[in-house]
Amino acid sequence: MDAVSVASSPESTTVRPVLARAVDRARAALVDLNEGAVGRHLGVTAEDECAATHRFVAELPGYHGWQWAVVVAAVPGTDHVTISELALLPGPDALLAPEWLPWDQRVRPGDLSPGDLLAPPKDDPRLVPGYVATGDPEIDEVAFEVGLGRKQVMSREGRLDCAQRWYDGDHGPESEMAKAAPSTCELCGFYLPLAGSLHAAFGVCGNEMAADGHVVTATYGCGAHSDTMLPTGAGSPRYDAYDDAAVEIVDLPSPEMPDTAPEPETAVEAVTDSEGEH
Ligand code: SF4
Repeated sequence: MDAVSVASSPESTTVRPVLARAVDRARAALVDLNEGAVGRHLGVTAEDECAATHRFVAELPGYHGWQWAVVVAAVPGTDHVTISELALLPGPDALLAPEWLPWDQRVRPGDLSPGDLLAPPKDDPRLVPGYVATGDPEIDEVAFEVGLGRKQVMSREGRLDCAQRWYDGDHGPESEMAKAAPSTCELCGFYLPLAGSLHAAFGVCGNEMAADGHVVTATYGCGAHSDTMLPTGAGSPRYDAYDDAAVEIVDLPSPEMPDTAPEPETAVEAVTDSEGEH
């Protein structure tokens, strides 16, 4: 019996001695199972008067913190121990997978791939019943023109959620691009306003050099705005502009003084003398 490991388990005091002594028997059962290495004995826990569970470290790759559990049993009043069950169980610090969630709760925006089906949940608050065709062509045609003609349409709650998401997103007025833009989308020639209740605040950008095909808020904007003017003198970024107003300082060699140059005082006197002659 592994006396040290049994003593380390506070619950071992309630285990019948015949079951607590069955450490080697439990280990032998795991070795016979041949599913992986068996580490040190961790302790024994009483299940009831007839059964107890011995736990061992599971030395298996990828199963950090997991334990082998061996349930041993003995009829009261006898010393004959049998093996009831072997299992691999997570210990308190075991590495576990996240709790399972149904697929429709796990799926995130952008996860949908071609061929995937994602039905809206029952009683989806984003949807309300729409207009159902009457069979009268005149009524149905008018209904279709005003955006009905569908079994369901977006509810007010759905529209508000969606508007808030767009407003807070990459093409909203708080984005870095919008803050640095010269003007707003609502004043841009590439802005295509949405129809319906979101008309006043949202449109689609039709500029392939900007947010082409994305919903933008009317107060978003970018540098490709149709009214953008290039600064005067801006040209190809491949060449630095030549600044002809700059002063270039050049070191020149000092001129050689002629040997016959007059002394300064003499030169002044000569100029004075010559002025006096006129
Ligand atoms: S080009 Fe820029 S400013 Fe114009 S609609 Fe598109 S995103 Fe808005």
